[in-house]
Amino acid sequence: MAELTPMMKQYFEIKNKNKDYILFYRLGDFYEMFFDDAKLVSRELELTLTGRDCGLEERAPMCGVPYHSAEGYIAKLVRKGYRIAICEQMEDPKLAKGLVKREIIRRVTPGTVVEASMLDESRNNFLGCIYAEQGGIGVCFADITTGEVYATGSESWQHIFSELGRFGPREVLVGGMAVADATLLSFLKERLEALVEPMPEDCFGAQRASERISYYFRIEDFDAAGLTALPRAIQCLGGLLDYLEQTQQASLAALNHLEVYHQGQYMELDLIARRNLELCETMRTKEKTGTLLWVLDKTRTAMGSRLIRQWLEKPLYNPLQIVRRQQAVGALCDDLIARTALGDALKRVFDMERLIGRVTYGTANCRDLRALSSTIACLPAIREQAALFGQAMLQELTANIDLLEDIRALVETSIVDEPPILLREGGLIRAGYHEEIDYLRDLASGGKGKIAAIEQRERERTGISKLKIGYNRVFGYYIEVSKSNADAVPEDYIRKQTLANGERYITEELKQLESTVLGAQERLTTLEYEVFVTIREQIAAEVHRVQKTAQAVAALDVLCALAEVACDNNYTCPIVDFTDRIEIRDGRHPVVEKMLADSLFIPNDTVLDSGENRVAIITGPNMAGKSTYMRQVALITIMAQIGSFVPASSAHIGVADRVFTRVGASDDLASGQSTFMVEMSEVADILKHATKSSLLILDEIGRGTSTYDGMSIARAVIEYVADKKKVGARALFATHYHELTVLEELVKGVKNYNIAVKKRGDDITFLRKIVRGGADDSYGIEVAKLAGVPNAVIKRAKAVLSDLEATMPKIELRAVAEEDEVPQMTMDSLSGNAVAERLRALQVDTMTPIEALNALYELKKLV
Ligand code: ADP
Repeated sequence: MAELTPMMKQYFEIKNKNKDYILFYRLGDFYEMFFDDAKLVSRELELTLTGRDCGLEERAPMCGVPYHSAEGYIAKLVRKGYRIAICEQMEDPKLAKGLVKREIIRRVTPGTVVEASMLDESRNNFLGCIYAEQGGIGVCFADITTGEVYATGSESWQHIFSELGRFGPREVLVGGMAVADATLLSFLKERLEALVEPMPEDCFGAQRASERISYYFRIEDFDAAGLTALPRAIQCLGGLLDYLEQTQQASLAALNHLEVYHQGQYMELDLIARRNLELCETMRTKEKTGTLLWVLDKTRTAMGSRLIRQWLEKPLYNPLQIVRRQQAVGALCDDLIARTALGDALKRVFDMERLIGRVTYGTANCRDLRALSSTIACLPAIREQAALFGQAMLQELTANIDLLEDIRALVETSIVDEPPILLREGGLIRAGYHEEIDYLRDLASGGKGKIAAIEQRERERTGISKLKIGYNRVFGYYIEVSKSNADAVPEDYIRKQTLANGERYITEELKQLESTVLGAQERLTTLEYEVFVTIREQIAAEVHRVQKTAQAVAALDVLCALAEVACDNNYTCPIVDFTDRIEIRDGRHPVVEKMLADSLFIPNDTVLDSGENRVAIITGPNMAGKSTYMRQVALITIMAQIGSFVPASSAHIGVADRVFTRVGASDDLASGQSTFMVEMSEVADILKHATKSSLLILDEIGRGTSTYDGMSIARAVIEYVADKKKVGARALFATHYHELTVLEELVKGVKNYNIAVKKRGDDITFLRKIVRGGADDSYGIEVAKLAGVPNAVIKRAKAVLSDLEATMPKIELRAVAEEDEVPQMTMDSLSGNAVAERLRALQVDTMTPIEALNALYELKKLV
């Protein structure tokens, strides 16, 4: 058996501890990968695969990237969902005795990257963690580039899925029972396209978790922080912090802000609703253009664009908080001059939040510090302009802006105006900041002056006018003389190299000078780097002040943007409260109205409440504008709940706890389920989870099956939703089964509407106006004609239709008695009973289907 070389032994020692990572092993000026890592990386990045002797018979497959351009390669791999461990040389190879010491200095994973080149500045990059155990699930999310951490707990997986959809993490750690939950894992991998990482149980120890939370977030009172009631969330945070400690060898000081929130604090929106309503990305192309975010995001800073996305991802539920934002937007709307000045001041702000993040992780360079400083220079103007507004929220944000003059002064006095990107080649520190640096710099550059003097002197001494002093890395300083002058060379020159038409010499004096100059240069670059690192650490110590300011600036930016959008688009401030009313006058679809280039958007009214107007059945031909109308109501509600003004002449929005949507064929073809199956499982989900405060958007339920089936399902769903004892939610229900309109007479709370069309002969015109009453026809053939279906087909269709109408009986829905409902068993009515005892003892959460079936048999025997 051949013996591995010492270096390869070291490689394997490190690699074995980092099996799940691609190991970037520093070797001189390269990061090298070996064996399977090399094969994978060469394939993924199209790099040449070479080999290296490793002591074994076969050479080790190897591929490498230059260390100074490694970031780009790492970025590509991380984007593809790989995790990378960076192994550095911990001592100077020139000085090392024997094998150079190497250590992992950082692990880069999709959820923990901090490099600007690997991040989208307009969105957060979240790492998620889910921990499930008997009795509850904890979930938390951290963006280490901005320091935000969010945690919550729940007993319902449904809620956890909503949270995952809301934060859209790129990498998710799973622990406890979550590790084996197939539905969760496929949701994470397929729907969110996140990297999933199972974590061992010991990362989630409750004691250790509490200690870590106290340490990182300086929390002593877990009750006050809202954590006591969420034991699983505590454990979950523990797991997340454990992973961050493992991957980020650098400080985690940037983590500062833990928000523990509870179900009900925000409007809940599941992934389906988010996608259907196209809040942040379009359904088909996954772009921002054409979404609500696209309309609203007029922010001027990267921090603002992340925050507005967050607000949209989590609309508020509490009207008091909503009104606070509304009033700020209102104040900004009222003063165009001050708002414009504030906007102008914001324009010059760099991404402070991520800059300070990189400072604390030790990856910021001099340019980052300069960018931070120039941003700090904008703060006085921002604060001054914001202070002009008397409104409470704006005042509060203004007060949170710390002018950070000390940091600016430090950067301005210490770092040169235009520093290089590289940190280890000198030229970073401003003259006058550090005595030794000034001295060494003098020495190094003074040496260069001396060289010129020697050159001049030697020319005179030898009489060789073309004598030159040059420098290369092999010989250092040398004197070059052409062949023709070789005879005039004095004795004390020592010949070093013969060229085609000249000779190179060195002298004792040059050697002496060289060691001073080079020594000074080398010492200078090292010292400059060290001084820079100290400055960076000094700034890192102020991370919390910078973050607080950054958050205030971001919020001002978002409020300004909302005000600008409100004024430019003629929005109105909605009344928001806890009533059950949704009353919109002249409402418009915020996105469609922007997309319509040459025609005007027709506004429409909406009235929904928990009384007579619970369910609106909307009929009208295809293309009439039914989906647009329903989405418009949902979007206006969401806009109102983020604190924005809304596209309407007036609006009253009784807050919704959730918005559910069931719209058209969704993108589930990939999951292998039939469209109808997907539709029904979404409907099932809505009926199970909707409450009286929810808003439901149901489009064409029952379309995916035969007319009778479909219509029957649609009717049953409407009845169930309208029934206050069952759901009683506010709902908009679009259908082209105009037969369903009889339900207005049969079901309490149902009202008919239709989107008017004008028919003249074979032609129809869409009026886009919603009016009371049902549509009388579905106008399918007319719409087909409008769409350009050939006349012959249209004519034939008409003939078939009139034959059908003549021969087929018309479908008429009548009152149908409900089947007697099975009386609900209550535990009380069963107490003392053997069945109840057995039922109580069942651990439903952990049962397999087979066990459940067996338990059912047993129970059946007992009755
Ligand atoms: P349906 O759901 O009834 O088939 P859509 O809601 O998809 O119809 O609307 C079809 C098209 O009509 C939309 O793409 C939009 O351009 C236009 N439209 C809808 N509502 C309006 C309106 N209120 N004003 C102007 N155009 C509208």
